[in-house]
Amino acid sequence: MKQLTGNELRKLFLDFFAGKDHLIQPSSSLIPENDPTLLLIGAGMAPFKPFFTGKMKPPHPRITTSQKCVRTGDIENVGRTARHHTFFEMLGNFSFGDYFKKEAIAWAWEFLTEYLELPKDKLWITIYTNDDEAFDIWHNDIKVPADRIIRMEENFWEIGPGPCGPCSEIHIDLGEERGCGKPDCAVGCNCDRYLEIWNLVFTQFDRDEAGNYTPLAKKNIDTGAGLERIASVLQNKPSNFETDLLYPIIDYAAKVAGVTYGQSAKNDVSLKVIADHGRSMTIMIGDGVLPSNEGRGYVLRRILRRAVRHGRLLGIEKPFLTDIVDIAATIFAQAYPDITDKKDYIKKVIQLEEERFHTTLVQGIELLNKHVQELAQAGQTVLDGSMAFKLYDTFGFPWELTEEILSEHTMTFDKHGFEQAMAEQRERARAARQDSEESVALPDLSGLVTETLSCNPEAESAKVVLILKDGKVVKDAFDGDEVAVILDVTPFHAEGGGQVGDTGSIASALGKIEVNTTRKLPDGTIYHIGHISEGALKTGEDVQLSVDISRRRHIARNHTATHLLQAALKQVLGGHVNQAGSSVDSNRLRFDFTHFAPVTAEQLAEVEQMVNEVILGNTTLAIIETTQAVAKEMGAMALFGEKYGERVRVVIVDGFSKELCGGTHVGSTAEIGLFKIVSEAGIGAGMRRIEAVTGYGAHEYLKLQNELIKEAAGALKTRPEEIVTRIDTLNGRIRELEKEVGTLTTKLAKNEVQDLLAAANTINGVQVVMGQVVAADMENLRATGDMVRDRLQSGVVVLGAISGDKVNFVAMATADCVAKGIHAGKIIKETATVAGGGGGGRPDMAQAGGKQPEKLSEALKMAEQIIKSQIK
Ligand SMILES: [Zn+2]
Ligand SMILES: [Zn+2]
Repeated sequence: MKQLTGNELRKLFLDFFAGKDHLIQPSSSLIPENDPTLLLIGAGMAPFKPFFTGKMKPPHPRITTSQKCVRTGDIENVGRTARHHTFFEMLGNFSFGDYFKKEAIAWAWEFLTEYLELPKDKLWITIYTNDDEAFDIWHNDIKVPADRIIRMEENFWEIGPGPCGPCSEIHIDLGEERGCGKPDCAVGCNCDRYLEIWNLVFTQFDRDEAGNYTPLAKKNIDTGAGLERIASVLQNKPSNFETDLLYPIIDYAAKVAGVTYGQSAKNDVSLKVIADHGRSMTIMIGDGVLPSNEGRGYVLRRILRRAVRHGRLLGIEKPFLTDIVDIAATIFAQAYPDITDKKDYIKKVIQLEEERFHTTLVQGIELLNKHVQELAQAGQTVLDGSMAFKLYDTFGFPWELTEEILSEHTMTFDKHGFEQAMAEQRERARAARQDSEESVALPDLSGLVTETLSCNPEAESAKVVLILKDGKVVKDAFDGDEVAVILDVTPFHAEGGGQVGDTGSIASALGKIEVNTTRKLPDGTIYHIGHISEGALKTGEDVQLSVDISRRRHIARNHTATHLLQAALKQVLGGHVNQAGSSVDSNRLRFDFTHFAPVTAEQLAEVEQMVNEVILGNTTLAIIETTQAVAKEMGAMALFGEKYGERVRVVIVDGFSKELCGGTHVGSTAEIGLFKIVSEAGIGAGMRRIEAVTGYGAHEYLKLQNELIKEAAGALKTRPEEIVTRIDTLNGRIRELEKEVGTLTTKLAKNEVQDLLAAANTINGVQVVMGQVVAADMENLRATGDMVRDRLQSGVVVLGAISGDKVNFVAMATADCVAKGIHAGKIIKETATVAGGGGGGRPDMAQAGGKQPEKLSEALKMAEQIIKSQIK
C-alpha cells in the first residue's frame, strides 16, 4: 500500500485521469451557480448537472475534479463516527456521453490496485441486483471472485424523474480487528470494518413520471471517492480525523484546551467537531458565504457557533477559531491557494461572529442549564418553545444547538411554540422597521466632521464614517440590526422637497445592508436607513454602493412631470396657482395647489395635453447652480415656506418651467414617456389636489383601464366601442319594464282588495278587513288600505306587507267606527310591537314598521284582539 499525504493522493488521482484523456477542472465554488434549488454544493457531480441533462455542452466529454462539498444533514454525527463531515472533498471522474461501465470499472480498479497498491484480496464490490453487465466486467474482465461481488437492491441511483441508473461501490476490508465481531459482519455492516471508498454511478436510463425506464442514447458516468476516507486507509488511521487533512487542527485545539487527544471519548468528540467545522467555515467564507439567519448564511452560523460551543465543552473560554484559518490554509495550500490569499478576510469574518456569540453564550448556557434542571425536577422532558426562541433571539443559539444540548439530557423542545414565537417576532420586526423609518433617533453628532462628507451621484464606493443603532453610535452592527449609516461620500439621494429617498444596498466584504430610505440632517449630512441582511458592518470599512437605479428613474420621471404640471396649471388656470405641497415617489406624483374653483374637465384635459406636448417635444433639462438673487431674477419659482441656502439649484425646461429644486430629474422630457392625470379633487378651502402617473406607471394605469373596459364589455355581451349604446338600450328597456311592473302591481292590488273584502269579518257588528298584502313600500300599502276602506264604507282595516327585511303596517277606521271606540293609532302600536317595531297615529289612520317580518301573522292576530277590546 502506498504511503501518501492527502495532497499527494488528490494530485495522483487527477493526474491518473488526465492520463486517460480527462480534463482536470478546478473545484467549483460551494455556492451553486444558477441553481436556486441548491443551498450548497454537496457532491462532485452537482456542478455538472447541466451537462448530464444536456442543457449545456461540457468543455470536454471527460472531466475529473476534486470537489469541495458541504453537507449538514448529519451534523450531529460529526465527531461521533469515523467518517461524518460537514466539509469534505470528493474525487470524481465524469463521462458525458463518452465512455461507460467497462472503462469506469477498469480505471477505478487500476487506480486503486496499481497506483495506490491496495491489496486486491481486500477489495469488495457491490452492484445493483440485476446489473449483469457490471457483474461480467468485474468478474470476467477484472477477475474479482464471484463471492466478493455482492448484489444489492439499494445500488440504484435516482432522484425523481430524469437520468438515473445502477451503481457499483468499491469497499475495502480494514481487517477483523476494526470490526464489530458479530458473526454476520459483512459489507454494509454499520461498523468500521468494511469502508466504502468509491461509488461508480452508471447513468443509463431516463425515468419518466409514470416510472418507466427508457435507456439513454448517451450514457453518462459519475463517480465519487471521498478524499479523506482513502487518505485514512493509505495513512493507516482509524478515522478520517487522524489524517494529515484534519489532524493538525485537532492538535491545535487540544493544545489550546490543554487536553490530550485519545484520552477521553467526550473530549475527542469536541476536538473532531472543531477540526471538521474549522475547515468548513474557512472554505465557506472563502467562497463568499457570510453569517446570517437565512439560507447558507445560517448553515455557516450554525457550524461556527457549534464549534464555539464545543470549544467551551473543552474548557476554552476565549475566542480561538481564527488561528484555525492559518492551519486550514496550510492544509489547503496546494488545492485551494485562494484560501491563503483570503486568510485575513476569513479571519475577520470569523472573529466578528465568534466574539459576538461569546458575549451571550455563557449566559445562554446558564439559562438553559437552569431550565434543564427545573424540567428534570418536575419530571418533564419538553422545553417551552418560547424559551427556545429566547435562546435563539437573545443569546444567538441556533435552535439546532438548543436541540442538541437538550438531547444530551434526553430532552426536546416544543418546535411549534418556537415557530409561533418566531412568526410573532417577525411581525414585530416588520412593524419596528416601519417605525424606525418614520423616526430614526439620531444622537448628538456634533463631534462628526461633516466637511469631509460629500455627495457624488457617480460614487460607487465609500468608507463607513458612522453607524447608528437604536440611536447610539456603535463600532459594528450585525445581520438583523436596523441601522442608520453615514458614509464619507454617497450617491444616494436623500428625501426632500416632496421626493422620497433612494433605496439600494451598501455592501462590504463582511456584510450587506439593504437601504430602505435615505434622509438628510438639517446640516445636509446624508444618512442611509436600512437593515443588515447578512454578515456585519464595521466603522472605517470600505463599502460598495448600489442605488436602485430603475426605481430612481421612476421617481425622476414623476418629479420632472410635477414641474411640468405646475407650469401648465399656471398657464391654464392662472398665475394665482401656487404649490401647496407635493409628494413624489416611484409609483405616482401628487400635487396640491391653491385654486378657488373646481377645475373643469376641459381645463384638466388641457393641462394634460400641454404637459404631454412638452414631453413629446423632447426638451433637454438644464440644471444650473447659482445664487438666490440670480435665480429670482431669472424668474424661477420657489416654494413658499421652503428654506434655500445661498447657493441654489434651478431646474429649467426651456420655454416652459423654471423651478428651484434639489431633486432628481430626467435628462430630457421625452424620458417621462406619458403623463396621465388619474384624479383631481378639492382637499380644503381653496385647495385642490391632482394625482398623476407617468412612464411605466401611466402604461400600467391605461392597461388596467383597458382591462376594465373589456370586462365591462364582456359583462354587457358587446364590443368595447359599443358599451355606451348598449347601456342606453338597457336603460330604455329598464324604463319600459318599470312601467309594466307598475301596471301589473296596480292590477294585482285590485285583485287583492277584492279578496280581502270577500274575507271581511264582522266583530260585534263592525266590519273588519285584515291580512297580508303585496306592497313595495309604505306608500303603496297606504294606497291599498285607502282602496279597501273606501270600498268598505264602514269598518276597520289592518294590513301588513313585507318590504325587504322589514315589515310595514297600516290601520284605518271609518268615522262611524271611531265613534264606536276604535282607535287606529292604538291598534298599530300594539301590532307593530309584536313584529319588533313601533309607531302610532290618529284614531282613523296610523302606520308603523317592524324589524321582524316573520312575525307578521302573529302581529295581525294581536290586532284582532285589540279591535275586539275596543268595540264597546
Ligand atoms: Zn460489523
Ligand atoms: Zn422639484
